[in-house]
Amino acid sequence: MFDLTTRDIKFLQGVGPQRATLLNKELNLFSLNDLLYYFPYKYVDRSRLYYIHEIDGNMPYIQLKGQILSFETMGEGRQRRLIAHFSDGTGVVDLVWFQGIKYLVGKYKTHEEYVVFGKPTVFNGRINVAHPDIDPAKDLTLSTMGLQPYYNTTEKMKRAGLHSHALEKLVGNAFALLQGTLPETLSTKVVEENHLMSLDEALRNIHFPQSPEKLRRAQYRLKFEELFYIQLNILRYTKDRQRKFRGLCFERVGEIFNTFYSQNLPFLLTGAQKRVIKEIRKDMGSGRQMNRLLQGDVGSGKTLVALMSMLIALDNGYQACMMAPTEILAAQHYETIRQLLFGMNVRVELLMGSVKGKKREEILKGLLTGEIQILIGTHAVLEDTVHFSSLGMVVIDEQHRFGVAQRAKLWKKNTCPPHVLVMTATPIPRTLAMTLYGDLDVSVIDELPPGRKPIQTIHQFDNRRVSLYAGIRKQIEEGRQVYIVYPLIKESEKMDIKNLEEGYGHICAEFPNCKVSKVHGQMKPAEKDAEMQRFVNGETQIMVATTVIEVGVNVPNASVMVIENAERFGLSQLHQLRGRVGRGADQSYCILVTSYKLSEETRKRLEIMVQTNDGFEIAEADLKLRGPGDLEGTQQSGVAFDLKIADIARDGQLLQHVREIASNIIDKDPTGSFPENEVLWRQLQTLRKTHVNWAAIS
Ligand code: ADP
Ligand code: MG
Repeated sequence: MFDLTTRDIKFLQGVGPQRATLLNKELNLFSLNDLLYYFPYKYVDRSRLYYIHEIDGNMPYIQLKGQILSFETMGEGRQRRLIAHFSDGTGVVDLVWFQGIKYLVGKYKTHEEYVVFGKPTVFNGRINVAHPDIDPAKDLTLSTMGLQPYYNTTEKMKRAGLHSHALEKLVGNAFALLQGTLPETLSTKVVEENHLMSLDEALRNIHFPQSPEKLRRAQYRLKFEELFYIQLNILRYTKDRQRKFRGLCFERVGEIFNTFYSQNLPFLLTGAQKRVIKEIRKDMGSGRQMNRLLQGDVGSGKTLVALMSMLIALDNGYQACMMAPTEILAAQHYETIRQLLFGMNVRVELLMGSVKGKKREEILKGLLTGEIQILIGTHAVLEDTVHFSSLGMVVIDEQHRFGVAQRAKLWKKNTCPPHVLVMTATPIPRTLAMTLYGDLDVSVIDELPPGRKPIQTIHQFDNRRVSLYAGIRKQIEEGRQVYIVYPLIKESEKMDIKNLEEGYGHICAEFPNCKVSKVHGQMKPAEKDAEMQRFVNGETQIMVATTVIEVGVNVPNASVMVIENAERFGLSQLHQLRGRVGRGADQSYCILVTSYKLSEETRKRLEIMVQTNDGFEIAEADLKLRGPGDLEGTQQSGVAFDLKIADIARDGQLLQHVREIASNIIDKDPTGSFPENEVLWRQLQTLRKTHVNWAAIS
């Protein structure tokens, strides 16, 4: 049978080649199916009539029934307009047109009953409705018109007459073409068990709702379907991979791990660290490849967990590798890990872009012979020249800077893919993690090491510098260190530096007895590191920086984080920055400095920061304020957030629900051979073909 839904949109009545090109380019609509899945963004109730005396200029769309009393043309040139004085007996409004005047005067008659639909505005004390929809009252049965759909269009489309109303007509034409019911895209079982509306009914009601209740059910069904297939896709990949690749089986916990645990561990593990290490051990010993996302708020002690996981690989005769997004961080990990392993016979090396020549060759050789057991590094470890003798475990720190493709590259560094532990300090809300990293198991460190005092966060307007500086001075006198961060202005790196330089000069003048460090993105890595190191060693008391210090840097003695122009930062970034302090036992402070003029949204953001230190709470709030498209980490993840109807911030529960359903189906039918599920796999294939990004999740 010929499938109308795949038919090119240009053959639809009312489209044609020119409009088709617009629909392709502007809305990415190519087939009738695409059109049917282009959903209205709102609905207006047309069953309700208003009286003119009820109307003010703040109302959305309204509908009136009455007569045109008289016509009048006014203005000259581009100002020329036609006005129809329209009355329903309770008052008069002016209907206004700037185009098609001659045609309109011929078309509409005075003293006939019309229904007028449009948005009222008040102009010179009179109510206007510009370019309204007008229909003879006898042609409409308002009680059956109900909710009218509104579609987003673009300026270009409007110029070609493709406004919302025109799209509505096209959708109507498409339904007229489709005889019979549209084929179901979910299995009968899924539809029945979840009491879902059929696809056919849902699509018809999402465009032309028969009632608010049916609209609600249609929305639910379509959200369900959208989220369900995203989950089915991710879970299918995971299970296929698990079937194809057997993972390395690290059954043993041996001498290295135990020596470290009993002799080198500088403190007791927190309960959360213990739990997570257990989860990781279980994964690595299961015979399946581990793919685990470790989420833990800043300062929760992820590094230690990473190290102990790597030691398990070593105990089983394999090498381990840890990647960080910047040289500063990689170097810091290297130092930390060497200190932690002090006195133990484990060879650790550091590989980054700046490691060259003989040293580099030595490392490459040591990796091949297996003498080097742990390699710490940046992206440099991904290069094709880097070969391991037996890589068994990979840790990726601060995951959001690494894309899916890079993760895949790592797997290929060993014939059997190594276990992967991805660590992130950007707490990703659970719902988002499931969509983005649905193929990863998730562990959470939800407990900070003991003895930490919660950071106190204060919002201060920038005219209160005197007291701000007094506070800083006091901390420095007590032997603490201070960060002062300036925003990065994307458009102009020069401006950043200027901003930073000014701040630096200002701070040096204000604190003549202190040594001040300065770090920004334009510095050479070696310079940056040296300057960073001076601060870490306590040679300097104040660190003036752009956001380069955002990720992972650890200076327990620093107790104050001042963020200048805090209004320019997103919530998760503010939280990351704040996490640089509060790492020691002393009371720490985060001061958010802003100008007096703030938008409502910014005010909310700052309020949240002042109220809570909980990274997950902040991430949830961020998701709600900004939407997932903006969330850090989503851009490079390979998943485009072009959800048509579901909303990750709001539909978390549904997402969880459909994930369980999808997971059950795959568990029961791992090879996809049950006839009852055939429709699911077929639809998944179709979606993988049309959603380019879906293929990238692996
Ligand atoms: P993050 O999770 O942000 O990477 P780190 O691993 O850098 O956190 O740890 C933050 C600080 O907490 C470090 O100074 C580390 O030595 C310390 N730390 C980690 N685990 C514990 C623990 N169980 N008890 C006390 N301090 C700990
Ligand atoms: Mg860290």
